[in-house]
Amino acid sequence: MRKKFPVRSSAATGALALLLAGAISAGPLDAAATETKAEPPKVPTSTGYGGAVSSLDPVVSEIGLQMLRRGGNATDAAVAMAAAIGVTDPYSAGIGGGGFFVHYDAASGEVETIDGRETAPSAIEHDAFIDPATGKSYPFYPDLVTGGVSVGVPGTPATWERALDRWGTRSLSEALRPATNVAEEGFVVDKLFYEQTLLNQARFQALTSTSDLFLPGGQAPAIGSVFRNPDLAQTYRTIANGGVEAFYEGALAQDIAAAVQAPPVAAGTTLPVPAGSMTAEDLAAYEVVDRDPVSVSYRGYDIFGMAPPASGGTTVGETLNILEQFDLGSQDDPAVLHHYIEASALAFADRAAYLGDGDFVDVPVAGLLDDTFAKERACLLDPTTAAAKPVTAGDARSYDGVCATPGAEGIVPEDTESPSTTNLTAVDRWGNVVEYTLTLEQIGGSGIVVPGRGFILNNELTDFSIEYSATDPNRLEAGKRPRSSMAPTIVLEDGRPVLALGSPGGSQIINTVTQMLINRIDLGMTIEEAIAAPRAAPQNSVRTIAEQAFVDSYGTALTGYGHTLRPTANAIGAATAIEIGPGGRLTAVAEPTRLGGGSARVVWPAGS
Ligand code: GLU
Repeated sequence: MRKKFPVRSSAATGALALLLAGAISAGPLDAAATETKAEPPKVPTSTGYGGAVSSLDPVVSEIGLQMLRRGGNATDAAVAMAAAIGVTDPYSAGIGGGGFFVHYDAASGEVETIDGRETAPSAIEHDAFIDPATGKSYPFYPDLVTGGVSVGVPGTPATWERALDRWGTRSLSEALRPATNVAEEGFVVDKLFYEQTLLNQARFQALTSTSDLFLPGGQAPAIGSVFRNPDLAQTYRTIANGGVEAFYEGALAQDIAAAVQAPPVAAGTTLPVPAGSMTAEDLAAYEVVDRDPVSVSYRGYDIFGMAPPASGGTTVGETLNILEQFDLGSQDDPAVLHHYIEASALAFADRAAYLGDGDFVDVPVAGLLDDTFAKERACLLDPTTAAAKPVTAGDARSYDGVCATPGAEGIVPEDTESPSTTNLTAVDRWGNVVEYTLTLEQIGGSGIVVPGRGFILNNELTDFSIEYSATDPNRLEAGKRPRSSMAPTIVLEDGRPVLALGSPGGSQIINTVTQMLINRIDLGMTIEEAIAAPRAAPQNSVRTIAEQAFVDSYGTALTGYGHTLRPTANAIGAATAIEIGPGGRLTAVAEPTRLGGGSARVVWPAGS
């Protein structure tokens, strides 16, 4: 059964006194713009016309909004916002990391993507994660994640350049300018920044360059204080002047390689801080990859997502394909959520069996997204009773849609992805759409600030399986990209975009994106309700992790189906989304409360 997206009719957005606005709209910030110390207010929902942005940070959204107002397009805004995230949310994303950029081109009607995933250095060995002192893999946190061995060659600067080359109207230099000014002038430390600094305090203390920047005087910067990062401002200027070559070649590349090979370890630290092998040549050889998106049709909508090495597109897509075998429109919420948990378990079993970097291993993408395969998998979904978990993977290379006897027992691989990362959404007045998820992996990445450069390097290589197995599609190999869960998603109806959404959250990204789509399409929630609704993260485990509010709302009913929920105090995901309604009416939404709430803005606000 297909439900039309209902047209929203509420949530007028008041005019905001945006103190950044004047400075940014004038181009380079006036050095005397001391008023930038006041943070723009957070607006979780805005409706209107002429373009919109959504991110998890009000300064970032303000920068994106001003780029749109000055005539920039969605790509220009997205790159400017991403650069700002590197300043105000430096533990989640930045030029030391990677991500996936999904773009809808209004002129061509095409959805295209850029894979800016980090890459394993050419000299990395299969046993790189084994501690020579013990002969066993380093304990995951904080030992393995803190140091050079987990750092992949960053893809984010090259992603920005490629996106602007393909779809932008501004130069990289112009797109970096507002963020450069925020780095120079400073921003107000909020609760999230403070708490994430504290979370990392022990790791940051282990690295002199990092404690110098993020623990001034040995302390986390206080909430309400102004934090400046002149080194990052200078790094952005270096890239603005020299192009991304100035990042991937020359002095900056040499500094990155040196920091990886010989992290600036503080005297007396007890962390092992393992060194990595990345060289300046590895940086010079880095390339983003233009990839075709993956897509499925779901109840009349075409859902476009990211191909491998991301597992997001195929796992969201397979889950939806399985769900489409059932008429959920006639069922109550617990019944729909039961189907969601079960379909997710089946898709996560297949994710574990098949997903890795498709340039290195054979990923049966077509099979995983085939409706016939979904039909066969759906045989294992009992509409009234939860299956024993973990369920086994299907055979995505040989299937006929006929129900078969399930295997005895599946395997739940250890999932060490951490809930960090960030996401942004942008739509411009021409109807172009960007959905961009970017990350350093851990909150605080590898913990290594490149000395004198003002940014943290990722620990993305820990997204590879930690134990090496020659049959594991996500095994660690030189030059390979680790499997990701990122799932930036654009939804089309009759060839026109109607919704873009994405989220951070490690492997819970997949759940968050899927559940929001179900909320919107099957449960008929508004997009505002769909983002705020309590979430569960079914991943083929015996117990399904769920937010307390989800347990409170649905625990009893789902227990009746045989599910066991495990409440978590942590938020599951932290999404942003923009819906494009009839007449081009935009509804931009960001989390109202998770991670302290995000900020969604439209160019021309319109009331109900
Ligand atoms: N490294 C993760 C991935 O690429 C993302 C980390 C996160 O979202 O917390 O899937």
